[in-house]
Amino acid sequence: MELLVVGLDGLSYNMLDRFDIDPKYIGRVTEEGVSGDLMSVDTPTTLPAWTSFQTGTDPGTHGLTNMIQQSADYDVSPFETNETEAAVYDYLDDTVLINLPASIGREPSAEDTHLVSAMLAKDKADAVPPHLRELDSYDDYILDHDKSLKKRPSVYFDHVCDITRRRRDFAREAFDEYDPRFGFVLFSTPDWAGHLLSNFSDDAERATYYRQLLTVVDECTADLAGLADNVLLMSDHGFEKKTRNIHVNDWLADRGYLQVEEERVTPQHLAVAAAKAVGKRSDWVYERIRRVYNYIIGTSVGQSLQEAAESEVDYPNSRAWELRYGCLFINDDRFDQPNVDDPEALKRELKEELATITGPDGEPAFRDVLFAEEAYADPGEWAPDVIARPAPGGYPTMLDSPTDEPVSQTNNYNHRYRGMIAAEGPAFCTDETVEGLSIVDILPTLMHVLCEPVSPTFDGSVRHDLLAEERAVETMSPTDVPRPRLRTADETSQTERDEAVEERLADLGYIE
Ligand SMILES: [Zn+2]
Repeated sequence: MELLVVGLDGLSYNMLDRFDIDPKYIGRVTEEGVSGDLMSVDTPTTLPAWTSFQTGTDPGTHGLTNMIQQSADYDVSPFETNETEAAVYDYLDDTVLINLPASIGREPSAEDTHLVSAMLAKDKADAVPPHLRELDSYDDYILDHDKSLKKRPSVYFDHVCDITRRRRDFAREAFDEYDPRFGFVLFSTPDWAGHLLSNFSDDAERATYYRQLLTVVDECTADLAGLADNVLLMSDHGFEKKTRNIHVNDWLADRGYLQVEEERVTPQHLAVAAAKAVGKRSDWVYERIRRVYNYIIGTSVGQSLQEAAESEVDYPNSRAWELRYGCLFINDDRFDQPNVDDPEALKRELKEELATITGPDGEPAFRDVLFAEEAYADPGEWAPDVIARPAPGGYPTMLDSPTDEPVSQTNNYNHRYRGMIAAEGPAFCTDETVEGLSIVDILPTLMHVLCEPVSPTFDGSVRHDLLAEERAVETMSPTDVPRPRLRTADETSQTERDEAVEERLADLGYIE
């Protein structure tokens, strides 16, 4: 294989440093090859970021700006695979991609290119095309984790280690069978484990489990790396410890921008109201409640409590709201019941005011507050109107504030913008650190490494600072850009996929 990309979902160097983990192979490539931080997209989450990787475009262009989307009638649902942008499996012949998120329903346009999809697929058979189901290791291949095992962390971590090894086995057999020029495999488990770190009470316990998994991920990465001349390791976003939750919808409601529906009174609501009342008076009690809360949101009991801890937005009567991770939407004429006279003025007002939100320490809650056109090269109609990027350690949550203040304390692990990249092999330079690299630059750079012309549709560009030799970049003519192909005669309906995916996203906290 000429070039292999190993995706390490959610991995970043700060997490290895925090837990004092020095994975042998990943550490060596970082030291001896070319490495650095890799900037994710808005929002720094799995579906937007891997869609940017596969298309070389930012979320303004491909449309997946978040894990969930809202339609004109205010209904919220998981995002679906992009169907308009050409992707890596359309550009590159002779390629095998194992476990690429947000690609279900797409059929490679390239010759001899094989695509195994991941997140957004209904199940294993939906994700793996029929001819790849013939491989011996298919039976043991696991698409998704069993969330019921989260109740027992030691069992859960053994389970994710097992998933990692079986994915390695499946990828290796597929690479052996098809002998591709370019290969991709994603290990999702660092992301799943990262989310579970919130459930532990101290960093020593977190370190033990995280180290156990990273050791397995590192071994499996090294195994597959042995099959390729050039290897590039990358994540889609990083993780970090969060010390502050930012409650944008509470803040919008306080200022009259957002209306909340009449509260339903259920036992879960009473439990949450009681917890909030106690939490307001004591940080210590609040911290204990939070831990229990983080623990149970991985369970079915937790799902109903989680719903109760989030007020229902009365969308038609609101002027603006947050739809996850600092993305604000204005109730303008994209929606069925618009009620904002001057959306541009409201956008400017919100941008200015959001920048003034501070936490208990007086530090700004957000590092940047941007309009869509500042965050994206070419934002589509449904891009968020305002994007508030949290300051380090801050997490924009949809859950109600336990203190009624817009910023509350937490002790959690969640996504951050900066992920990681490290590469080695004759195509890459050695012993170098690179800065300012974005995930949209990866596909153009890989295509250039493979001596293929880059696409004029890319938002990213070839990053020569990663490469051993500088050659002129060729660009294909717009008429040569392949047309995306969709799977015909699909065995699985979109509704079936949506149901499976909603459950998965709720488990990871994306649908709150
Ligand atoms: Zn991810």
